[in-house]
Amino acid sequence: MRLRNIPGADEAIADSPHCIQEPMAEKGRWHLIFGNENPIHIEIGMGKGQFIMKLAKEHPDINYIGIERYSSVLLRALQKMEIEPLPNIRFLCMDASIITEVFDKEEVAKIYLNFSDPWPKERHAKRRLTSRQFFERYDKILAGNGVVEFKTDNDDLFAFSMEEVAEAGWTLDAHTFDLHHDPVLNEGNVMTEYEEKFSSLGHPIHKLIARRSF
Ligand code: SAM
Repeated sequence: MRLRNIPGADEAIADSPHCIQEPMAEKGRWHLIFGNENPIHIEIGMGKGQFIMKLAKEHPDINYIGIERYSSVLLRALQKMEIEPLPNIRFLCMDASIITEVFDKEEVAKIYLNFSDPWPKERHAKRRLTSRQFFERYDKILAGNGVVEFKTDNDDLFAFSMEEVAEAGWTLDAHTFDLHHDPVLNEGNVMTEYEEKFSSLGHPIHKLIARRSF
């Protein structure tokens, strides 16, 4: 998702109390930002924030951090926060490749990846958020029984991701090729913007849950 450059987006993010300006300075101290010891769940590539903001509203006892690399996209989430501020969510405008410099060992309980960019060229495979290189990073920040939950409508990216889970030595806890018709995995499912768009076009949604080994 890349919106046109929006004038003022960078400034709005710099001024927002909901955005953490220097996330690397908070490594190992995220509970101080929230003022409690509740578990931290993050979404990488949150887009305009529909998914993570709905979760934050439903689960006040969990702290959420949304990560998005484009300020023009993140701005939409900030605008929603102005209308309805939520105490248990913060946003980071950054590229997820530096995630191990932002979170300490075991600081994160769950990672959500939704409709991640497919990077279809083979030479870009390591940029995919479900590549073994990213699983290595997730391994360094997730708690002992931490999980990655991934949804997509992209067949190739999903097949690649299933292989990478195994290659990374993680356990595949569950998976489905048609989430919306899976009575177990679909229970309590929160739709993302892309999920609404692609399922309305008739695309089945795939989901996997991968657990790190410890
Ligand atoms: N998750 C949302 C949804 O399902 O509606 C948005 C999906 S959109 C296809 C992917 C989003 O991930 C884009 O907004 C993109 O900028 C962001 N993104 C992709 N790679 C990223 C990275 N390495 N770090 C941070 N954000 C990333």
